[in-house]
Amino acid sequence: MKKHNFGAGPGILPEEALRKSAQAVLDLNGTGLSLLEISHRSKDFDAIMQKTKSLVKELLGVPDNYSILFLQGGASTQFAMVPYNLLPVDGKAAYVESGVWANKAIKEAKMVGTTEVLASSKDKNFSYIPKNFSIPKDAAYLHVTSNNTIYGTQMKSYPDSPIPVVCDMSSDIFSKPVDVSKFDLIYAGAQKNMGPAGVTMVIIKNDICGKVNRTIPTMLNYQTHIEADSLYNTPPVFPIYVCMATLEWLQSIGGVPAIAKLNQKKAAMLYTEIDSNPLFTGTTAVEDRSEMNVCFVMTKPELEEEFSKAVKDAGIIGIKGHRSVGGFRASLYNALPIESVAVMTKVMREFAMKTA
Ligand SMILES: *Cc1c(COP(=O)(O)O)cnc(C)c1O
Repeated sequence: MKKHNFGAGPGILPEEALRKSAQAVLDLNGTGLSLLEISHRSKDFDAIMQKTKSLVKELLGVPDNYSILFLQGGASTQFAMVPYNLLPVDGKAAYVESGVWANKAIKEAKMVGTTEVLASSKDKNFSYIPKNFSIPKDAAYLHVTSNNTIYGTQMKSYPDSPIPVVCDMSSDIFSKPVDVSKFDLIYAGAQKNMGPAGVTMVIIKNDICGKVNRTIPTMLNYQTHIEADSLYNTPPVFPIYVCMATLEWLQSIGGVPAIAKLNQKKAAMLYTEIDSNPLFTGTTAVEDRSEMNVCFVMTKPELEEEFSKAVKDAGIIGIKGHRSVGGFRASLYNALPIESVAVMTKVMREFAMKTA
């Protein structure tokens, strides 16, 4: 039986994309060669790279003065690359601490230079999005996290910033429309909502590099990858291919506006059940609820084990909450069908009736 995969990351991918990728590993487009055996500088791979980039550009409406890069090292390497490239030796950077990932980004920035934390929701275990902070005009950039994967909070709007904005969109990229022109740099590890682990996408405004007076190791320098079109060294060819296949699927179902509508519907279904079912309660501020990661706990924690069993029996996997929140976390990434959410809410309803 195919499982209902609510895992937080690596997340569920469209079956169509998986099939296509599996075939490309065996025989790429009838070339008699595996995708994994061809040169990354070949015509065949170049076509894959260009197609992936053009899909990103089209689906997100990326303006012409931005580069789309495919790098390695995960979003975690971006935590360091951002300050290395954008934080001047005698300047400062501004960060919003909205969760564990933001916290890790801050830790890296502090190693590179002066880092100011403008606001934090640590006081309430990151259950809300910090708002109404003022942004220092003399900071080099503002760093925010659009969706806090572990805590289930999501930014519904972005601050009007007088300084460049850098955003970690690892867990909600391609889930809803975004005005790329409002950001100088967007990065996302692929394995939540756009592909497999092993590739990180960076969308960067071309003219923001080369402004800091610091020696940057070649591989950590955005300029290297902009100039080489992500082919300075061997790129992660397989993860890039799976991203391409996933984005082709997204395009075929109507692109970002269509998936945004579906994502809203999926999230509304699950939150409605959580709010109306006496056995469950959400863990985050209602106005900041994430459409990607839905965190909740049981009002009778002693029933958790039994509920987990009922969930498992229904073919649902991946809903155990992160250790820092406890309870449950159901991730509703793009490729999760609405039918899986219906199965989940049905299990919750039936479990409440059975134990009432
Ligand atoms: C998963 C995640 C990361 C870490 O990504 P890696 O690719 O594993 O380094 C960073 N930020 C957010 C928001 C995430 O969800």
